[in-house]
Parts: sequence; C-alpha cells; structure tokens
Amino acid sequence: MYEFSYHKAESIEDALTVLGQSDDGKLLAGGMTLLPTMKQRLAAPDTLIDLGGLTSMVGIEKQDSNIVIGAMTCHANVEHSALVKKHIPALAALAGVIGDPQVRNRGTLGGSVANADPASDYPAAVVGLGATIQTNQRSIAADDFFIDLFETELEEHEIITSVSFPIPEKAAYQKFPNPASRYPVVGVFIAIYEGGKDIRVAVTGAAGSVFRVTEMEQALLESFSVGAIENITVDADDFNEDIHASAEYRAHLIGVMAKRALQQIL
Ligand SMILES: Cc1cc2nc3c(=O)[nH]c(=O)nc-3n(C[C@H](O)[C@H](O)[C@H](O)COP(=O)(O)OP(=O)(O)OC[C@H]3O[C@@H](n4cnc5c(N)ncnc54)[C@H](O)[C@@H]3O)c2cc1C
Repeated sequence: MYEFSYHKAESIEDALTVLGQSDDGKLLAGGMTLLPTMKQRLAAPDTLIDLGGLTSMVGIEKQDSNIVIGAMTCHANVEHSALVKKHIPALAALAGVIGDPQVRNRGTLGGSVANADPASDYPAAVVGLGATIQTNQRSIAADDFFIDLFETELEEHEIITSVSFPIPEKAAYQKFPNPASRYPVVGVFIAIYEGGKDIRVAVTGAAGSVFRVTEMEQALLESFSVGAIENITVDADDFNEDIHASAEYRAHLIGVMAKRALQQIL
C-alpha cells in the first residue's frame, strides 16, 4: 500500500471540499473493495475521505410507495430490516447472500452501486426494481446509471446519498454464486408492477454491466409462466469468461436463474 492522507468527513459538503482539494482523492465507504485494491497497489489515491461518520447517509425508510435506503447502510442492515423484509423481501434476501457476515457488516449499498462491479448483486435489484439513485446533485434512473465494467453515470466528484426502490407487487432474486467469494457468476432479479403490466428482468454477472432481458419481459407480459421463457436463449456474445464459467455457460445460467426466480414468485 502506498502512503495516503486520511480525512474523516464531517458532512457531505466537507467530503466534497476535501475531494476537490486532493489530486486523486477517493471516498471510503465500507472499504471492502477499495482497501484490498490499495493493498495490491492497483489503486493509489493520495487522500481517503471516510464517509463512515455521516449518519445522514445511514438508514432505511418508507416514503410513499418507495423504500429509500441511505448509501452508507451496510448490507446486513438491509438484510435484517423489518421494513425491507415486509415490502421488498427479495431485496432483503439479496443483501443476505452477499459475501460473508464480515463483508455484509462493512460493505455498503452506495459503495457497491458506485463500484459497479459486473459481478455484484445490488445492480440486479437496482435495475430490476427500476430504482432511482440519489446523489448530492441529482437523481439518476437505474436504467441510465450503469454504463460498463466499473463505469457509471457518476461524475468525478459526485456522491451517492441514497437509493430509492419502488415497492413491487412481487419480486425474486436468484443467483448462482461463486463457491469461494459468493459473488454471483450470474444473478437474475425479476419484479412485477401494475398488476403484471410492468415486468422487469435484470441480469448481473454475465456481461460487463447489468442489463435487462426485454425478450423475457415481453414473453412474461403475454403469459406469466415458466413456460413463457423456457425457450428464450440469450446471446453469449460479449459475455464475461473466466476460470469459473464460459460465456456460453453464463448465458445458460440466465435461463436457469430466471426460471428459479419465476418459480419463487409463482
Ligand atoms: C470477500 C468479499 C466477498 C464479496 N462478495 C460479494 C458478493 O457476493 N456480492 C456482491 O455484490 N459484493 C460482494 N463483495 C463486495 C462488497 O459487498 C461491497 O459492497 C463492495 O466491496 C463495495 O462497497 P464498500 O462499501 O465496501 O465500498 P468501498 O470499497 O469503500 O468503495 C468502493 C468504491 O465506491 C466508491 N464509493 C463508495 N461510497 C460511495 C458513495 N456513497 N458515492 C460515490 N462513490 C462511493 C469508493 O470511492 C470506491 O471507489 C465482496 C467483497 C469481499 C471483500
């Protein structure tokens, strides 16, 4: 790890000021990705601006028909939240299968969403539920937020403050986890809104970024059944390939995970 300065932010404005004054400062949330990357010398920020003391960015509340979760809320708090379990149990379940207890007690929603790891769980729920990402300067729709591998719509000095998830009528998440890290090799999130007139199917882990499978969404709008998506195949071109799974295997897993999620909803 290279040398760096550490600053514990006292407010979002304070974090932005220090970020603006540094050459290559980085926000620190749970540190579950940033610190290992620094230890491996793959990142060398000159300043770390710790958001850990910003209680205004922690918490879960219901606002009209949305569940709004502060960016600094850790995965374990989402997993165990009575509010999330009541209104979006699929989101609580998703948070509960991220990594291990240590990761779930340190890693945050904002850190995960900002990091946009192609193999992370939250992007599937953010896009699957059509969430809105709130930053210090604007609201960004989930469909516009994730651009590519570790790339989002966030500008250089923009801080995610919360994510607002519209409450679905029903939803489910199924993932095929990497047996070591628990990151999804492929994860599929399905959500139903407006009495079945709006269905969203989002996939994480398969490609450079989370994406929706519109062919499945259309088929499910016509007939909400496992049979409706049984013969839909997803093109493996441009899919991720590594020692854990080929592109074709990931494409196959999308069908399997989608059917499992659908069975859970049905
Ligand atoms: C062993 C292990 C297993 C894991 N398994 C899984 C898994 O199964 N599924 C999964 O989805 N994830 C997994 N993770 C990742 C983990 O869940 C964290 O969510 C993730 O590391 C990022 O969150 P963090 O709070 O630790 O962010 P940090 O590491 O602190 O920050 C990550 C990046 O986001 C930026 N950032 C942080 N907060 C904000 C903000 N509010 N606004 C703007 N930018 C911000 C930081 O500057 C940094 O660039 C795993 C991690 C580990 C170490």
